Order: sequence, then C-alpha cells, then structure tokens
Amino acid sequence: MTTATQGYDVIVIGVGGMGSAAAYHLAARGQRVLGLEKFTPAHDRGSSHGGSRIIRQSYFEDPAYVPLLLRAYELWEQLGTDADCEVIRRTGGLYLGPPDSLTVAGSLRASREWSLPHEVLDSAEIRRRFPLFTPAPDGIAVYEPNGGFARPELTVQAHIHLALRAGATLSFGEEVLRWAETDSGVTVTTTRATYRADQLVVCPGAWAPQLLADFGIPITIERQVLYWFDPIGGTAAFADQPIYIAEDHSGTQIYGFPAIDGPTGGVKTAFFRKGIVCTPDTIDRVVHPPEIEEMRDRVAALVPAVSGPCVHTATCMYSNTPDQHFVIARHPGGTRVTIACGFSGHGFKFVPVVGEILADLVIDAKTAHPITLFDPQRLVTSGNNLA
Ligand SMILES: Cc1cc2nc3c(=O)[nH]c(=O)nc-3n(C[C@H](O)[C@H](O)[C@H](O)COP(=O)(O)OP(=O)(O)OC[C@H]3O[C@@H](n4cnc5c(N)ncnc54)[C@H](O)[C@@H]3O)c2cc1C
Repeated sequence: MTTATQGYDVIVIGVGGMGSAAAYHLAARGQRVLGLEKFTPAHDRGSSHGGSRIIRQSYFEDPAYVPLLLRAYELWEQLGTDADCEVIRRTGGLYLGPPDSLTVAGSLRASREWSLPHEVLDSAEIRRRFPLFTPAPDGIAVYEPNGGFARPELTVQAHIHLALRAGATLSFGEEVLRWAETDSGVTVTTTRATYRADQLVVCPGAWAPQLLADFGIPITIERQVLYWFDPIGGTAAFADQPIYIAEDHSGTQIYGFPAIDGPTGGVKTAFFRKGIVCTPDTIDRVVHPPEIEEMRDRVAALVPAVSGPCVHTATCMYSNTPDQHFVIARHPGGTRVTIACGFSGHGFKFVPVVGEILADLVIDAKTAHPITLFDPQRLVTSGNNLA
C-alpha cells in the first residue's frame, strides 16, 4: 500500500454512467481529476450496460425534470459530435395506456406544461400509424417525436475518452475501500494506495449503501432483467419503430426498443420497476425460464410479433430511493464531498447533465440547474448524520 503524493483537485469514486460524465466535465473545466473504478471501462456489473436506454422529454415522473432533459439533449448532441459516435438516436417515443394512467396523463402534463412537441393518438390511430402495436380499444398514447434511445456503453466510453483527452487520470480495477473528509481535504484509500485531494465526488451506483453508509440515505437495490426476443418475421419490420412505454390497468409498465442490434440480435423489452431486492453481491445473474415466459406473454399482448424465441437476457441493478427521485447534492454535513446516487431506474438519459451539475457543485458550490427535487434532506431518517 502506497500513499500517492500527486496533487488532485478532485477524486471521482465510480467511473460508471455518472462518474465518467463528472470526470469529463471536471477535467474539461481545468480540474486535476482522478477517477477510481473497481471494474473495467463500460463494464456490465453495475447499472450502465445492456446496449440501450430510453431517452425522452415528456416526463411522466415529474415535469420538474424537463429543463434538465432539455439541457441533457443539448449535451447529448455535443457528446456525439465531440466523441464522433452515435450516443443517442431519436426514434420517436410512444407512451401508451389508459387515459388516466401515469404513463399517459403524466406524459401529457409534462408536454403541455413545457410546450413540448407531442400528439395524442387514440387506439385506432396507434394501430394505423404503428401496425406492430395492438393497444386495448380504450388505450391511447402520447407520441413524442423527440423520444429515442442512448447507447450506455458507448456513452461511458465517450466520456472516458474525452476525460482522458482533457487530462484526467482514470484508474480501473482499483476498488475504493474507504474515504474520509479532513480539515484540509479528502483522503481515499483503495486496494492499491491512499490518495489525497481537495474534493470528492461519489457516484457509486448500486454500491451506494456501502460507500455512503454513514449518510443514512435509504436506497434499495433491485435486480432487473432485460430480454431480447427474435421477432416473428424477423427484425426488419422493427428497424424504424419508436421506443415505447406501455402501462396496463394494474399500473405495471413495460418498455421496448426498435431492432438496433443487427439481424440476429432480436428486439429488447423489459418490465419497468418490477425487480427483486438484492445487493451487488447477492444478485441472481441467471434469468429463469418462468421470467422469460412472463415477459413474452406481457409484451405479446401489445406487440404480438415479439413472441419469438428469447435470444439473449441480461441483469442490471436499479438503486431506488423511496420517492424514486435522484440524490444529487453537496453533502450537507461537510464542505468537500458531492454525491450522486439513487437514480431509481431512470437516470441514464440525464448522464451528461448530471456530469455538468456535479462539476458546478465541485467548482462553484452551487448550480444554476434546478435540483431541489434531489436534495437528500427529504429522505432523512432519524439516527443518521445528515446535519
Ligand atoms: C435494466 C435497466 C434499465 C434501465 N433503463 C433506463 C432507461 O431506459 N432510461 C434511463 O434514463 N435510465 C435507465 N436505467 C437507469 C440508468 O441506467 C441508471 O440510473 C444509471 O446507469 C446509473 O448510473 P450510475 O453512474 O449511478 O451507476 P453505474 O453506471 O453502475 O456506476 C457506478 C460505478 O461505481 C463503481 N463503484 C462502486 N463501488 C466502487 C468502489 N468501492 N470502488 C470503485 N468503484 C466503485 C461501479 O463499479 C460502477 O462502475 C436503467 C437501469 C437498468 C438497470
């Protein structure tokens, strides 16, 4: 074990979705950055893998997210240009369900409050415009032309590439064992060394309960499954489809993507928020046949052609807060630690703007972005050390 003497302005713990974006934005703004990641670049052990993530602006979760999404879309475009790769694609987004469902009513509310481009389609119109879909007769949809998907692994790689180009030091295969704030800075001890810096950013993903244990933020880790089905008739008909989120009368949501993984890659679909509580150490990485059957039955009711053989599955972890809103803040009990966690299964579309916000919080101790919704004080439970 060595003590590294090189001076850093800021250490970023976790170089996944959020941490890689933070490392890039900090380095681009002149900070001397050290990023520490226990796995390899763009690995599949956390929350930022599986080939695609939905991006959208008509945000049914809360219209308060919309200004962040508008900025995120600008930064997505910039990232694609700077890294010269397709990190996002706009396919259009179809948000289906009963008119009073969260998916439909919430999307409509955000669209109207922020004057976002959108259309409301009844069941017959959905079938006419998108013949692969067979919604219930009473089902309607909000169609958003700006919906689409991001490529998570490419995004993480792009931010890593740009962070390195901007002068950041990134170390992979190096696990952080503990960190501490002192009067003069922060110290971070890893399996290889102890580092010092002026400030710390903690982006731990599903490891938040371990790395932020003292904060008392209640975050539950959930195993989620992604499924790729080989559609009946082949993938060609799915090439130019919109992404979709569909809610049934019970409130269960599923979502899916067009065919973007080649002729034999199938089309991807999943349940939104139907997970099993786990930890990164206990997660069951095996996907069991009854799970595949349940997914196939559910998606086939809406998109019958997606009922061919399952060609691939993957597991991934959500980090859920009780209200499913994020945690992004300077640690209220200290002056040198900034945290970003609890992304509750919907954080990826915000990755570039979270990187920008984290750089603001480190450099300026404040941000012009609206982040009061993400204040950890709302989650304070008695007995923790949030000041
Ligand atoms: C199945 C699934 C589907 C999703 N779909 C969508 C979607 O369609 N749209 C959307 O917007 N969002 C979606 N999300 C959510 C989104 O992907 C996550 O919110 C986002 O990826 C979280 O990024 P993160 O940086 O917090 O976590 P991660 O990317 O997992 O990064 C955390 C990093 O910290 C590292 N780390 C942890 N502990 C240590 C340590 N001690 N030392 C060093 N490194 C450490 C980890 O190895 C990891 O690389 C989905 C998530 C899943 C799982």
